[in-house]
Amino acid sequence: MTNPFTILKAWGIALNPDEDQNRVASARLEKCSVCPHKKVNALAVHYCSLCGCPIKGKIFTPDRVKLDEESGRVLNPCDDNRWEE
Ligand code: SF4
Repeated sequence: MTNPFTILKAWGIALNPDEDQNRVASARLEKCSVCPHKKVNALAVHYCSLCGCPIKGKIFTPDRVKLDEESGRVLNPCDDNRWEE
């Protein structure tokens, strides 16, 4: 997640998520919790070492996992393709 607008949107959603956004974030958090790329910094903030984002905000990324029709590639907001939606 490198787009600053996407980061802002994610943090905005994190402040007041709806039921579906909470459901998706919980499922993503389960994946992040057991991921080897999850690290903790000196301030005890859990973050993704691939993108540098705090996991608390990243899991609310509005982009969903989807198939890019043109390239045939699966686009996943998780840089290690671990998220399912
Ligand atoms: S690589 Fe994906 S699953 Fe792992 S910590 Fe980063 S966002 Fe979470």
